[in-house]
Amino acid sequence: MTNLFRVRYAPSPTGYPHVGNIRTALFNWLFARHHGGSFIVRIEDTDVTRKVEDAMQTILDGLRWLGLDWDEGPEVGGKYGPYFQSQRLEVYREAAERLVSQGDAYHCYCSPQRLEEMRAEQVRRKQPPGYDRHCRDLSQEERSLKEVEGITPVVRFKTPLSGPTRFDDLIRGQMVFDNNTLDDFILLKSDGYPTYHLASVVDDHLMEISHVLRAEEWLSSTPRHLLLYQALGFEPPQFAHLPMILGSDRAKLSKRHGAVSITEYQQQGYLPEAMVNFMALLGWSLDDRTEILSRQQLIDNFSLERVSQTAAIFNRDKLNWMNGVYIRSLTLEDFTQRVLPFLNNGLPRRVKRPLSIDYVRQIMPLVQERARTLSDVAGRTSLAEAPELAEFFFVEELDYTPSLLIGKNMSQSSAFKALETARERIELLEAFDAESLEAVLRPLAEELGLKTGQLFGTLRIAVTGRTAAPPLFQTMAVLGKKQCLKRIAVAITKLR
Ligand code: GLU
Repeated sequence: MTNLFRVRYAPSPTGYPHVGNIRTALFNWLFARHHGGSFIVRIEDTDVTRKVEDAMQTILDGLRWLGLDWDEGPEVGGKYGPYFQSQRLEVYREAAERLVSQGDAYHCYCSPQRLEEMRAEQVRRKQPPGYDRHCRDLSQEERSLKEVEGITPVVRFKTPLSGPTRFDDLIRGQMVFDNNTLDDFILLKSDGYPTYHLASVVDDHLMEISHVLRAEEWLSSTPRHLLLYQALGFEPPQFAHLPMILGSDRAKLSKRHGAVSITEYQQQGYLPEAMVNFMALLGWSLDDRTEILSRQQLIDNFSLERVSQTAAIFNRDKLNWMNGVYIRSLTLEDFTQRVLPFLNNGLPRRVKRPLSIDYVRQIMPLVQERARTLSDVAGRTSLAEAPELAEFFFVEELDYTPSLLIGKNMSQSSAFKALETARERIELLEAFDAESLEAVLRPLAEELGLKTGQLFGTLRIAVTGRTAAPPLFQTMAVLGKKQCLKRIAVAITKLR
């Protein structure tokens, strides 16, 4: 039985995979998993000049990180392989030759210099760009002459000069293109490599791809592809062009909107499950309301009918919020395990490694509520408002401005007295847990004629160096009596 749902993600290893690329992969994956079909990864590495060495590994790592497993492709193989276009040059050459012998394509001998002059002329005359079909009707004699000169030709498609090309886009509906707006595009380059158009059509056919889900930027290539399918006598797949992704300023998503490569999100401490959920909503929605959807819910509900035609907006705040939701849903142990590498990398060099896992386990409940990314916990975060939630637990010396110890409506001497008295009371404590601390420190405020906020604020700065920190008594309990007393002593010296 033929598989009715075979889709492919076909990245070119010419750069690192950005959110737009990976959203395409995700939609293809969801579509395949929803229909019990196959998700295929095909590497379109025919542009030798633009190849980036580690791009492919980064793409595959990104897919793996997000759990987008592929049924056929690099590393896993499959019966339609090879899945690298650079290893399939022969099939493209055959297809191109067939088109030439059928009269649907021709050899073009135009030199780069001639093409350049042609382009300059078109610009001057304000004509649309495109090949002027100089070689389309060369006689046999003229061709032989060029061959004798030793010019290696390119193969161009003989695009019909008139008539429409129509197709039904599964997202955008009926599309019509005038063939006279298309030029005679290249199929095979002089280096023997196919162009994207030829390779894509030949492979989608040979790999029995049923649906092509790809970014909107390829929409204008589709009439070319359909003409090629027709000329080759192949039945075309169905097409669905996914909406663009714009930044919140409605400009095309780029570096200034934050991370570009998907791996940067991983490094910044976003959870793959949050990322999948977030990207699924870039152009698709369940009901225009539901934001949090598990992987299984996405698979169960994904459909092209609910993919929008209008551009999706990439909202970084929403991603941060969503990541926080996913972080809070982790079990404490899972959260701890995921944070550990971020602590190891993010904490200052001077903090002794290896970190004590027991100590880390005590800290985690205090930060899980507040972290929006895993890197929030340990510094080097991109979110300025929530830096280094846990760094003060690890460093020996805190770095803060002493005047912060003097809270609102307090004087230097009242802060001094508060710290001195707190130190005395804490020293007397036998059990050093949150309850015992609260039991002595809460009444102390009144005794000192301070508001609890004033006393606790001064203590918070003394023991954490920060104005905002996890709950004070729990924090102090985790830090331990010795460390708290030491920090209060330091604070007293700083106040002097
Ligand atoms: N190699 C193309 C890309 O990088 C694939 C386009 C398509 O899906 O047809 O996006």
